[in-house]
Amino acid sequence: MNFIPNGLGWIEAIAGCMFSGKSEELIRRLRRAQIAKKKVLIFKPEIDNRYDEAYVVSHSAQKIKAINIKDSSQIMNHLEDNTEVIGIDEAQFFDDGIIDIVQELADKNIRIIIAGLDQDYLGKPFGPMPQLLAIADDVMKTQAICMKCGNPATKTQRIVENDQQILVGANKLYEARCRNCFNGGEK
Ligand SMILES: [Zn+2]
Repeated sequence: MNFIPNGLGWIEAIAGCMFSGKSEELIRRLRRAQIAKKKVLIFKPEIDNRYDEAYVVSHSAQKIKAINIKDSSQIMNHLEDNTEVIGIDEAQFFDDGIIDIVQELADKNIRIIIAGLDQDYLGKPFGPMPQLLAIADDVMKTQAICMKCGNPATKTQRIVENDQQILVGANKLYEARCRNCFNGGEK
C-alpha cells in the first residue's frame, strides 16, 4: 500500500499464514508512521509472549515497542487525544469486541493497521479476522514459501499432535505449506 490517507480514518489489514512476513510488514508501516512523527500506539494480545513481552517482533528479529493487553476493550484505556496511528499484531487472538472497536477508532480519524493469521491450523478462518478483513479499507495477503515443495504458501501446517486452536510457537510447531502439501489437523 503506497497511498497513506491524511486525517481520514482508515483500516488496513495484513493477513496470511505463519512465516509470511506479516509482523515485518506491520513493523515497516509503523516505523514509517513514526518517522512521519505520527502519534503511534501498538498493541498485541498478552497470549503471545513468544519473544519479548513488550515488543512486536518479526521472525527476522525486527522489533517495535508494544503494549500487551488481555482483551480488546483495553485499547480504549490507552487511547490518547492525539493518537493518530494504531498497530495491532496477532489480531486473530483477540475477542470479537475488536471489530466494533476498530470501527470506532476509524470513525475518530485514526489509521489502524491490523496484522494476523487469516486461517488456523485446520485452514478455518481464525477468530475475528474474517470480519476485520471485511471492514478493512485496504487488505494485503502475505504469502510464505512452502517448506515441502517451494511453491507460494498460504496455509499453516501444525507439525505436532495437538488439537487446541491456540498453540503458540513457531519453528518446531508449524510450517508454511501450499494447498497441495497442507493437510489440516494431521501430521
Ligand atoms: Zn507445497
